Amino acid sequence: MTPPDAPAPSDRPGDPAPGTVYLVGAGPGDPGLMTARSLEVIASADVVLYDQLIPPTALDGARVDAELVDVGKRGGGRQVPQAETEELLVRHALAGRSVARVKGGDPFVFGRGGEEASRLRALGIPYEVVPGVTAGISGPAYAGIPVTHRAHAPGVAFVTGHEDPSKPESTIDWAGVAGFPGTLAFYMGVRRLPEITRSLIDAGRPADEPVAVVQSGTLPTQRTVTGTLADIATIAADAGIKAPAITLVGAVAGLRDELRWFEDRPLFGRTVAVTRARAQASGLARRLRALGAAVVETPTIRTRSLDAELPDLAPFGYVAVTSPNGARELMAALLRSDRDGRDLYGTTLAAVGPGTARALRAVGLRPDVVPDTYTGEALAAMLGANQPNWQARNPDTPRRALLVRGSSAGDALPDGLRAAGIEVTDVPAYETLAEPLDDRSLSAVATADYVTFTSASTARFLADAAPGHDGPHGRLPLGERTRIVSIGPVTTAALAGLGATPAIEADEATIDGLVAALLADATR
Ligand code: SAH
Repeated sequence: MTPPDAPAPSDRPGDPAPGTVYLVGAGPGDPGLMTARSLEVIASADVVLYDQLIPPTALDGARVDAELVDVGKRGGGRQVPQAETEELLVRHALAGRSVARVKGGDPFVFGRGGEEASRLRALGIPYEVVPGVTAGISGPAYAGIPVTHRAHAPGVAFVTGHEDPSKPESTIDWAGVAGFPGTLAFYMGVRRLPEITRSLIDAGRPADEPVAVVQSGTLPTQRTVTGTLADIATIAADAGIKAPAITLVGAVAGLRDELRWFEDRPLFGRTVAVTRARAQASGLARRLRALGAAVVETPTIRTRSLDAELPDLAPFGYVAVTSPNGARELMAALLRSDRDGRDLYGTTLAAVGPGTARALRAVGLRPDVVPDTYTGEALAAMLGANQPNWQARNPDTPRRALLVRGSSAGDALPDGLRAAGIEVTDVPAYETLAEPLDDRSLSAVATADYVTFTSASTARFLADAAPGHDGPHGRLPLGERTRIVSIGPVTTAALAGLGATPAIEADEATIDGLVAALLADATR
């Protein structure tokens, strides 16, 4: 309750209390370096005003009804002037909205966060600062350079390289900067590298002092060049190093050769497209990213529950699921009809492979049977063999199987079961739909080094997304040098039907198998 003597929330009666403005640092680029607080704030804000240099997925968690405003660039690429950005902040906050002002790195390190906070304070608008991982520390870290080190650098100074040191009115005190006993981290300075290095040498830093320039630090496109104060400007120019980049001057830059790690990851510099449904892509994408790949998620399919009704399970000796989705649908269908896992008592529960088995476990069900090869044929053969040890609870297992599958699942499993004398009830529990691919996604797939297919439908729907296409990979709209990665024989057969031959097929039809096969190909 508001105490009677509380100050009025605003001067004019009837105005809403101003919303809080969050000055949020989103880190240098790697989405994993966003803080827990930044994600929380972005997820709850009414309005998000964001800059250019934020991680590609930074705003994925924003509310669907949130207003997202790009203040980094507008119209013909014009940067929104700072005054205009501040006006927007103020206007939304005074209208009672919570505003996340999302910036790259840390908002208070060359981020104009201080100016924005002053403005808010002056107007009585409440604000919170959410610090971020700054590029001057994280870029070097991903290049294998610690900015301080007991043996090499007792301190680090963050310096703007934006000033033109050749101008007499330059505000940078070069003698002071050069005299700093430790590492110098220059932001915004790549274009001025010749002037910066010359000024430092003129002011007394040794010409042979190690220097590293890290472009797009922490991103899959990270590039690092090293040299000395004397030659780094030429080296960086020859290598075509561009903004955004951090220039690091100091003995610590020499540690990179020993400590580099990120750029040495086996898939670093490779682009891998993941075509599976967005809801399922994250595990595969995470594994590929951990190996250093630049992953583009271009889901070609999505699944939709058909809210299936399951029959009474008592007459069935077998219940089989052939995808993680099927596993989830099985349990969802039981719960919908006021049943649960206990209704499976006495049946033999079968999963086509380890991923599906994991999904069963996740809903509290332990599969009795997983075949050695993860195909419908293998599963049918195994169930058909009717091994007595599955039937400990139910020695007279009825030769009837309930399949909970996608509506477009293949015939191999039901045909195999029928051939083994098992009666089949096939319940379509979900359907697979095309996920429309925009031009950007299509071109991302077409130019990827690898494109992964984890089911026949991911391949078919990619072909459907480019009607009439006929190229080096048949109906699949992929570039000539793109290498196709198939999870297993069923997907490979579907690819063949589209006129495409995978360069790689996983030995084991699982996500792990697919990643292992891709890795082996990339490091061959
Ligand atoms: N607030 C930001 C800095 C903004 S100034 C922070 O704390 O990191 C913009 C400068 O930051 C760029 O010119 C570049 O010098 C640096 N920068 C930002 N992201 C970077 C990245 N991923 N790699 C290297 N430098 C980066």
